[in-house]
Amino acid sequence: MMRQFHAAKKKHPDALLFFRMGDFYEMFFEDAKVAAEVLGLALTARDKAKKVPMAGVPVRAFENYLVRLVRAGHTVAICEQLQDPREVKGIVDRDVVRVVSPGTLVEDDALSGNRPLFVLAASPEENGEIGLAWADISTGSFRCSRVAAHRFAEELTRIEPAEVVLPEDHPLAAEVQQAGLPLCQRPTWEFDPRDGARDLTEQLHTSSLEAFGIENQPAILGACGALLRFLRDHQKSALEQVRDLHVHQPDRHLALDGATRRTLEIVRSQKDGGRQNTLLAVVDRTSTPMGGRQLRDWLLEPLCEQDAILIRQEAVTALHADDEVRRGVGEALDGFGDLERAAARLAGGGGNPRDLLGIALALDRVPKLRKILGEDQAPALDTVRQRLDPCSETAAEILRTLLDSPPLTLSEGGVVRDGFHPDLDELRALAKGGKDYLAELQVREAKRMGMSTLKVGFNRVFGYYIEVSRAQSQNVPADYVRKQTLKNAERFVTPELKEYEAKVFGAEEKARDLEHQIFSQLRKTVAVELPRILQTAMAVAELDALAGLACAAVEHAWTRPEILPPGRTLEISEGRHPVVESALLGEPFVPNDTKLDADSRLVVLTGPNMSGKSTWLRQTALIVLLAQVGSFVPAKKTRIAVVDRIFTRLGSGDDISRGQSTFMVEMVETAGILRGATESSLLLLDEVGRGTSTFDGLAIAWAVCEEVHDRLGARCLFATHYHQLTDLAEALDSARNMNVAVREWGEDIVFLHRIEEGGTDRSYGVHVARLAGIPPAVLERAKEVLARLERDEEGLSRRILAKHATHDPKLSVVQVSLFDLLKENEPALAAEIRALDLDSLPPIEAWKMLLRVRSALESS
Ligand code: ATP
Repeated sequence: MMRQFHAAKKKHPDALLFFRMGDFYEMFFEDAKVAAEVLGLALTARDKAKKVPMAGVPVRAFENYLVRLVRAGHTVAICEQLQDPREVKGIVDRDVVRVVSPGTLVEDDALSGNRPLFVLAASPEENGEIGLAWADISTGSFRCSRVAAHRFAEELTRIEPAEVVLPEDHPLAAEVQQAGLPLCQRPTWEFDPRDGARDLTEQLHTSSLEAFGIENQPAILGACGALLRFLRDHQKSALEQVRDLHVHQPDRHLALDGATRRTLEIVRSQKDGGRQNTLLAVVDRTSTPMGGRQLRDWLLEPLCEQDAILIRQEAVTALHADDEVRRGVGEALDGFGDLERAAARLAGGGGNPRDLLGIALALDRVPKLRKILGEDQAPALDTVRQRLDPCSETAAEILRTLLDSPPLTLSEGGVVRDGFHPDLDELRALAKGGKDYLAELQVREAKRMGMSTLKVGFNRVFGYYIEVSRAQSQNVPADYVRKQTLKNAERFVTPELKEYEAKVFGAEEKARDLEHQIFSQLRKTVAVELPRILQTAMAVAELDALAGLACAAVEHAWTRPEILPPGRTLEISEGRHPVVESALLGEPFVPNDTKLDADSRLVVLTGPNMSGKSTWLRQTALIVLLAQVGSFVPAKKTRIAVVDRIFTRLGSGDDISRGQSTFMVEMVETAGILRGATESSLLLLDEVGRGTSTFDGLAIAWAVCEEVHDRLGARCLFATHYHQLTDLAEALDSARNMNVAVREWGEDIVFLHRIEEGGTDRSYGVHVARLAGIPPAVLERAKEVLARLERDEEGLSRRILAKHATHDPKLSVVQVSLFDLLKENEPALAAEIRALDLDSLPPIEAWKMLLRVRSALESS
């Protein structure tokens, strides 16, 4: 047996080996020590003389231990008994049947229903592009795409894989580690595109990859191949559940970089990474885990094509308008379960009787769903309805076979209905008959010997026995053979009892085997019908997500936004922040407008701390995002020309783990925005430049504003405490100033949270500091310093604007007029000035020249 152990361990040297021995998975040597440490198990020894350390976990409850080990960063190889010990003399065969790492940890507790479990493989190409392939073995979902290398980190935040597979020693490994994701490095040859193409055609049962448009994409093929190999190695199976490949097209989606996804708190809060206080929590009114996963996917990647958005929006609108259909769908989906995961588990060779029953009960509801939806629906709903395939034969077969509430596991039997299979009925009757007989035997024997305490019992080791109290054990008949002695009783068997025991055991065992066979047959049926079942599951997911959006719209009183072709329009009237609004207890949320268009595409927003600047920026982004998901939005009226990318630069903290300071993070993000934004993008910039000295910060903020306005031409909300920027906004053609209103009451300020036209020249930072409890003496001194600084600073922006004027003909008049005058009236003097060598001119000479200029101008 230890030879078997070493052979298995040799094949999986980096994994902890769960070695099946009867009712336990045992670990030996170093594995045992590691597991004992992580799981707090008692470390024993297998062979006392040789001191082989050993630790074990019960098979009955191994999932919990498995999850803990994998979460602690270990990979676990499960080595099973491949034969039935009852049928084999000596040692049973054993082999590793599954390798479990973070990306393949499908154990239910570890899987949160509404999140996918992706493994992502990345294969770099020579031209700097990367082929990506990612799959979720718990659902069979399999996707691929190609991205530029600099967008790899962004894709990691979108896909959120549980594990990443890379060629060994590849530089991308650093990005994976920075993102805190488990990494598995595999030999480079596993990413070979030719092997990938072959594996892929085999897996998808197609003769060519042309239909997918990836036949000439070596990086994608390489990634797909490496991914399939990884998953097969881990599952040790043909991956029956992976049947289709979806080629992901980034251009068809609204791009959101990692920082934007994080700061907008779409599916995770920044505070603790949880779901509370996120957009998802406010919007998610889905009823099934599949719908939850679908909606999450949509939120993480909204659309950017008007037609596609309108199709989805129309479906949400129809469900929003028709209370009866919406409620009907909600009721039909309530308790529908996870059809996709249950089917994938069974097709993959796993699953239990309840998974089967769950599938049948879910499919059984499909006709009702189709009926509720009716025929005259929005096109998207109609497509959903057509894809809802009840797979009636499969559902009926399962329901005909299984009991209404079968046990969770198959091992004890009792899963199949009486009357389903004549042989099974017969075996059950035999087993039951045997049991009835034993009950009758007890009564008979007790009576025969006048021993009221005599009883017939059963235990796993000794089988059936007749138990007699110690006092009466002397009086038993001769055919009683002693089997076991207890403290107060003796246990006996009789030939008759032995015979019936064999009958009961034999019948029970055969019945169990037969039930296993019936179960496997049903599992095969599900595997054969998997494409149809998955199609239904996907349609249900979509319907659930659409109905969920409609419910959210009704619940929060949201309205349908108007989606326009690409352009510069962005009009939100009385917009609200969906998350802040629902988190404000008691206080009403103050709605605000956002209005951007070609003539006014840059807004410089000033206003006190705590007044609601970043809330307004975020709500604008979230409204655009929701609109492009196809959802209704928290506003009275909305018109949006589709946005291709949303960029945000909203207060990030230090990123010490990446070795970057606050300011560095801020600048890296800003650089990304200036390089990546287009005319159709939406930029939300908050306090750019605040992380450095005042003048450096102002200078950067100023220059960024000019760049966005003059060159990028994107729609942009720029919140700042540098009120000098209000002068810039006035000078630029397509910019305007807005501010957040406050009212002063003596020493106090009242936040109105209302966005108004025009700039402001005060930050009220000192007031806010007082609210926060800064001591009065410090505040007084701060006020004094502020007053002086403000005096010194007077005219600062005028001086910067003068510089700006050198490339703005409108403003240049002010500065150039002196020389124009001179050129016109004193051409000789002008020529003399032009000839001066300013580098060597002593200041006194410059001063003399200035005097001459002045007197010449005065006299002319
Ligand atoms: P700072 O300049 O200090 O970063 P800010 O101006 O960006 O502040 P926010 O963080 O947007 O201020 O808002 C501060 C708080 O004010 C929010 O947490 C919210 O509770 C409240 N608030 C913001 N906007 C509104 C609104 N429109 N209606 C009601 N309350 C609001």
